Amino acid sequence: MDLPLLWVAAGAMAAFTAWLLKRGSAMKTLTDAGIVLFLLAMMASMFVSAVAYLYSPSLVTIFEVVALNMISMTIGLIPLLATLIRGDRELDETRGGNSVGSRRLAVGAIIALSIVAEVFMGWTFAIVSGAASTTTQSAFSALVDSMSTYWFIFTMATEMAVTLYLVGRNFPRVFRYLVAIQIVIMILSPTAIADSVWSASTLWANGAMMVVAVIVVLEFLFRNRSPAAGASNYVLRLIGAYGLMMAGLFLWLIDGDILLFVLSIIAEMAIYFSIVLNDKSLVSPPLVSWQTRPVWAFALLGGIFIAEFFMGGMFDIMANGTGYFTTLPFVALTGSALNVLGAALYDFVVAVGSITASFWFLAMMGVEMGALVVFKMRYARETETKLRLGLMLVAYAIYAVWLPSFVFSGNLPDVPWIGWSMGIGTAGALSPGIPLTALILTYVISGGLSFLFGSRSLCSVLCTAAPMYQGTTYDAMSTFNRSSKIGRHNLTSRASGSFRIVSTVVWVSLLGSAALSYLTSVGFLNASFFGEDISYFFYSFYFSFLWYLVWTLTPFVGTYGCVTTGVCGWGTFNGIVSRFGLFRLKVKDSNTCINCKTKDCAKVCPTGQTDLPGQFIDSGEFRSFKCIGVGDCVSACPYENIYFFDVRNWVRKKLNRPLPPLATPVLAEPVGSPIDFRAAEGTQTAG
Ligand code: SF4
Ligand code: SF4
Repeated sequence: MDLPLLWVAAGAMAAFTAWLLKRGSAMKTLTDAGIVLFLLAMMASMFVSAVAYLYSPSLVTIFEVVALNMISMTIGLIPLLATLIRGDRELDETRGGNSVGSRRLAVGAIIALSIVAEVFMGWTFAIVSGAASTTTQSAFSALVDSMSTYWFIFTMATEMAVTLYLVGRNFPRVFRYLVAIQIVIMILSPTAIADSVWSASTLWANGAMMVVAVIVVLEFLFRNRSPAAGASNYVLRLIGAYGLMMAGLFLWLIDGDILLFVLSIIAEMAIYFSIVLNDKSLVSPPLVSWQTRPVWAFALLGGIFIAEFFMGGMFDIMANGTGYFTTLPFVALTGSALNVLGAALYDFVVAVGSITASFWFLAMMGVEMGALVVFKMRYARETETKLRLGLMLVAYAIYAVWLPSFVFSGNLPDVPWIGWSMGIGTAGALSPGIPLTALILTYVISGGLSFLFGSRSLCSVLCTAAPMYQGTTYDAMSTFNRSSKIGRHNLTSRASGSFRIVSTVVWVSLLGSAALSYLTSVGFLNASFFGEDISYFFYSFYFSFLWYLVWTLTPFVGTYGCVTTGVCGWGTFNGIVSRFGLFRLKVKDSNTCINCKTKDCAKVCPTGQTDLPGQFIDSGEFRSFKCIGVGDCVSACPYENIYFFDVRNWVRKKLNRPLPPLATPVLAEPVGSPIDFRAAEGTQTAG
């Protein structure tokens, strides 16, 4: 058959299915559902028969194909016949108790039949056009192959686009955008056209679109703390499908296996069909606050991390070739049980760290999380906070990513402050000579900055982690500081028992491994962890693996878990220096705090410093090794009562110069806060 003719047929089928989906979205009665199901069953059986015939024309005669179609059409007619006999009735959402309602059953059947029809249609066209073979490969691999070709993917994308045109106006605006992004991502499937330029360009573009999708989802969640259950289900499933898709593309690049990618496309289709057929679920009750659903929030963060992780790996392969991963120094899982356990841990950390510490992963995370920081800048009231956020983004790009990845990548151990940016272990083994000097200078520079400006110089500006903890949606998760068990345990400026234990373990491991590393480097010992410098291994474990685990566990740990739990040795060091340095928060008038009804400063703190008001009332200032100077409290105080105090104010004071913040009169009436990161009762808006 002519290719153009096939394309016309595929386009017509896509348009017809889209029309059926539109009918499905408007169905109210059993008859409505029956008509859609009958037509879809017809389509599905037609293409299933076509594939059967194309595979075994000698075994499956035209007569048998027609008979098969007749049988399936008869089955498809059953719901319609039933309504004729028993009378029509409305589709119900639930049928008593917890049982599934007829509408949900109909929707499930429509989704299943649509997918079967699409899959077999793509397979049929792939065989007829010669893109899939019926002789040189198994039926299963031919099916999988056909679903990765343009016959399936572009037809699906056409169907999705036509459906969006037909029913998209029913969606709230943000979901129209998300569905449009879904369509673009579908078109940008690297497997669709067997051409290296197409594959390479679409892999980059596909990843970029996914970054946009994640930003749209996170910003939606920030603006809508209580979305409809259907909306939160949709975004969670979408993120899950993208995680699967990125993992699929990563595997495809590594060893050419496309099965996982194809499964992700099926998942994406199912998610798409489910909101087309249930568009009302995007806005109708129940509205549930995701700030009260830690498991849901954890699944969201986990899904985002998985998608980003494999996307970073995909970009690494695109930039450096598959050798980037195939030559990793994995060790064999052999020997005693302890050896196998250690080797498994080592391999795991190597595999995870190879991506999370890579340039492309960090660059992509920077864009994604940085966008949320830019959004936050709109809400920040104080110029100082806006400037800090801007500085943080610049520092992330230059200090945390560009300089170590490109400028000093060859001689990191020689470069103080940049080469050892997270203290012991950052740049490798501890050994005599220049690296030791560079390491000591790192502590001097970073500790000096923390003494003068507070640990915000690190935790709120220079640290790679800062942008990931500072975006709008992540800020809104500070409610988990109070609602989670561990978060509650770590509230206030005191060091909890668990903090003491964790930070001690971390520091003992860092110092102990540094000593072993040094003694090994001077030839006194021969200590390593499966051939890796012990000090560097601990660094990788803490910052390339554990940090992301703590980040993902935010709903159970609270925000800025790296600070509050003590797992970051570098943060603890700088925090303690800061505690005894010049940085502190001050209030213009303690009496305002006494009369303050809201105590908003304590509610928004991302590290859970709930004793802020108490310290303000007692001494007019707040000092804590956990205070990282984010300034959310400053922005949230409805009386504009708080201001930062650091070396700049200290110098002014010494010179008897007036302190600018104190020049502002204390307001008698609250002015309201431009930031509301804690509200759990936000309402859903269409935009
Ligand atoms: S505690 Fe550590 S990881 Fe967390 S922001 Fe501070 S320096 Fe970065
Ligand atoms: S919100 Fe402002 S006025 Fe109220 S306790 Fe905190 S610093 Fe004082």
